[in-house]
Amino acid sequence: MSGVTEASIFAALKGIVEPKSQQDVVTLGMISGLIVKDGNVGFAIEVDPKEGAAMEPLRKAAEQAVHALDGVISVTAVLTAERAGQNAGQGGGGAAPAPNQAQGSQAQGSQAQGQAGGQRAMVPGVRAIVAVASGKGGVGKSTTTTNLALGLAQLGLKVGVLDADIYGPSQPRMLGISGRPTSPDGKILNPMENYGIKCMSMGFLVAEDTPMIWRGPMVQSALQQMLRDVEWGELDILVVDMPPGTGDAQLTMAQQVPLTGAVIVSTPQDIALLDARKGLNMFRKVDVPVLGIVENMSMFVCPNCGHESHIFSHGGAKREADKLGMEFLGEVPLDIEIRETSDEGRPIVVSNPDAPHAKAYSAIAQRVWDKVSTQIDAGGARQAPKIVMQ
Ligand code: ADP
Repeated sequence: MSGVTEASIFAALKGIVEPKSQQDVVTLGMISGLIVKDGNVGFAIEVDPKEGAAMEPLRKAAEQAVHALDGVISVTAVLTAERAGQNAGQGGGGAAPAPNQAQGSQAQGSQAQGQAGGQRAMVPGVRAIVAVASGKGGVGKSTTTTNLALGLAQLGLKVGVLDADIYGPSQPRMLGISGRPTSPDGKILNPMENYGIKCMSMGFLVAEDTPMIWRGPMVQSALQQMLRDVEWGELDILVVDMPPGTGDAQLTMAQQVPLTGAVIVSTPQDIALLDARKGLNMFRKVDVPVLGIVENMSMFVCPNCGHESHIFSHGGAKREADKLGMEFLGEVPLDIEIRETSDEGRPIVVSNPDAPHAKAYSAIAQRVWDKVSTQIDAGGARQAPKIVMQ
C-alpha cells in the first residue's frame, strides 16, 4: 500500500495559490470530491465558470503538486463549476443553490435536493419534457433518444435534446456536434444544433475522456443549468437522455425536471431481469407518467438473407408491458446500420429515413407525440412533484 493520505494531499495542495485572492486553494475551499485509490488520486477544483479557461494553469499546478508526493501513481484534477456565479433570472421558481463553500462536507446523496426547494417551475417556452431512461447502461438509451428526437422533428415539431447522462454523455457524438456552446452574456448558454435539433450536453463542456467526479449537488446544479441557463427558445418537446439506472441519483434527477412523461428503453434480456419494472417504479415514485416501453435489440435480422433471429424470446417486452399496464411503444432490431450511423453522428432516421428501422423510430415518435400532446391538451404543463424525504 502506498503511504499517500488525504492529509498529505491537502498539505501539498495548500501550496497552490489562487492568483486573484492570493490564498491557497484548500483555504478557499475549492477542493472537493477527493478520492484516493491505490495511489491514484482524483479531485475537483471548483471555480467560477467565467474563470474556467484562466484556471487551467492552477489545475495543472495542483496535479503536479500531488503527483510529486511519494506513492502517487496518477493524479486527475478536474475544474468544475458548481454554479454560475449568479441566479440567472429563472423567474424565482427554484432558488439558486448556495454557491458551494462547504468543502469537506461531502454531499450525501439525495437529501441535498432540499436546498433547492421541492417545486420546479416549467421551463419557459418548452411545452413538454420527456425522459428516456433505462435500467442499466448499454441498452441503447442514447441511440433511442437521438432517433426519437429526430423522428419527432420529422413530424414538424421543434425539438431539443438535453443530455443528462453526465457520466457518459454521448449526444454530441450521436448528433454529430462538436465545438463548444457560446454564451453572449456569460450567463446563458446557447444550445448547439444539428439536424434541426437543439442540444445541450456536459459533453460539450468536458472532454469525452476526462474523468469527472460528481457530487450530489454538482449533479443537480449541472442539470439545473442545462435546463434553465440554456437559451432553449420555443420547443414543442425536450427529450432528456437520462443517466442509466434507477438509483438515487436518477430518482433525484427525475424529480428535478418537470417531466411530462418517460419512455423506458429495455432489451429483451433486461425485460426478463425486471429492469423495466424498476424504471416504472422509479417514475411512479416521483409521479411521472410512463408513456411506454421500447424494446431495443429485439431481434437480429441477417443482413445477407433477411432471416429474423430472435436470440432472446420474442414478445417478452410486450407481455411484460401488458402485465405492468404500460404501453408497448415498439421494437427496434439489433442492426449494424443503427450502430454505425448513430456512432458516426448520422443517425438512421436522418441518414436513411426510408429504411424499415428508421420507420420503426418514426412510428415510436408519432406514438410518443400523440400521448404527450393529449397530456398537454388535457392538463397543460405539469409541475414536478414535491417529494418529502423521511
Ligand atoms: P446506452 O445509452 O443505453 O448506454 P447506447 O445508445 O450508447 O446505450 O448504445 C450502446 C451501443 O449500442 C452503441 O454503440 C450503439 O450504437 C449500439 N446500439 C444501440 N441500439 C442498437 C441497435 N438497435 N442495433 C445495433 N446497435 C445498437
